[in-house]
Amino acid sequence: MRNNGWTEEAWRLAIVLLGGALFGALIGHLAATTLVLLGLYSVGHLYDFKRFISWMDDPVSREMPIRNGVWGDVYARVSRLLNSQAQRERRLQILLDQFQSAAEALPDAVVALGPSDEIRWVNQAAQDVLGLRAPGDYGRPLANLFRAPAFQQFLSARDFRKPLELPAPGRDGQRLSVRAVCSGQDQLLIIVQDVTERYRVEQIRRDFVANVSHELRTPLTVISGFVENMHADGELCPVPWRKPLALISEQTARMQQIVEDLLLLARLEGGGSSLRQEAVDVAAMLEMLAVEARLLASEDIDISVDIASGWHLEAEPGLLRSAISNLVVNAVHHTPPGGEIVLHWVDEPHASCIVVEDTGEGIAPEHIPRLSERFYRVDTGRSRERGGTGLGLAIVKHVLQVHEGGLEIMSTPGEGSQFICRFPARLRAEPRGTLGTGAGGRR
Ligand code: ADP
Repeated sequence: MRNNGWTEEAWRLAIVLLGGALFGALIGHLAATTLVLLGLYSVGHLYDFKRFISWMDDPVSREMPIRNGVWGDVYARVSRLLNSQAQRERRLQILLDQFQSAAEALPDAVVALGPSDEIRWVNQAAQDVLGLRAPGDYGRPLANLFRAPAFQQFLSARDFRKPLELPAPGRDGQRLSVRAVCSGQDQLLIIVQDVTERYRVEQIRRDFVANVSHELRTPLTVISGFVENMHADGELCPVPWRKPLALISEQTARMQQIVEDLLLLARLEGGGSSLRQEAVDVAAMLEMLAVEARLLASEDIDISVDIASGWHLEAEPGLLRSAISNLVVNAVHHTPPGGEIVLHWVDEPHASCIVVEDTGEGIAPEHIPRLSERFYRVDTGRSRERGGTGLGLAIVKHVLQVHEGGLEIMSTPGEGSQFICRFPARLRAEPRGTLGTGAGGRR
């Protein structure tokens, strides 16, 4: 079947050549007759080729001019190709329609971006939440229309692991959460969710905890003051009361610590806008913390400092110190005699890290993801016994967050733990006295 056209064409050519040869032989001009016939044969094909080209201008609505021979074959194959392409396009269109109606039904705003972050498509929610127009804004860069510096930075940094939460530009009180997903080559899907309600509930919870803590502060100070006085005054305090008073004093101190920690957490959750940052000499800070830890720890624990970075760090000194001190005190509490604690200050290609490493009891893997939750303890009884509030690591995490850093915990039960506080390289500061010389800069 497939060679029909070609066989027919071969026969046609053979007949033309044979007929021509016979005729040429009869009239005595064999070569000239053959040449003329071949010429006519080529002109015929040229004419068919021209018809084919003009048919290709609109193959769908025009009739095929030739249905047999080699050209019939060509027309049939091209038609088949065009038909299957049209079918594929129809299927794609159906899929596209289904995707678009699903995306239209989403309550979240969806914006599809092209290679230069220009808008290709938006759903209805994107028009409502972001005020984009379809198709009026198609082709325009999204960053020009969604004008928030945090969003522009998010888009250009190309780090989409975490969603970005920000106040909606131009809409008071509204809060948005933006996620970005790479969808195919050079295509980005921006998904924006209105999180105003969730944020408001979180804000209420934060305010509630902060207010309760604040209200408890004064009564606790009064109670603790009186208890201290009664306990301290040997004559005023009858013997049977001494033990209970000592207990009350201890527990009041614990409550005061919890209240202070909760207030600090509330302040940290409020964001880092009020941070008073300065270049902190991390090496000197770690040396000081090591000295304090040696006073706290048993003599058998070896506590040392390893400084491999020459940078200072832009941070709020008080917060940074209290976070790292939390980690060091934890390391002391969880490292038995004979163990070792090392405080490192090291550089990575894009970050600088303070690492508190111990050879203590370690932590089982199932606890690690939850350690920085408020009041989460591996062993609640033991933590309470030594006055732990269960808020230490939550504070550390928040202190790092307001410095745009992060906490990583690595631990092996029975071998020890590493608490890695990672700060972005942009917080590195030249040590005083070396400004402009580049000294100490392990970049
Ligand atoms: P706590 O007040 O109980 O110390 P934290 O938030 O500081 O609260 O720590 C949470 C829990 O993490 C602790 O109860 C302890 O079980 C575990 N932990 C913290 N640091 C270490 C460490 N260096 N080694 C082993 N376990 C640790």
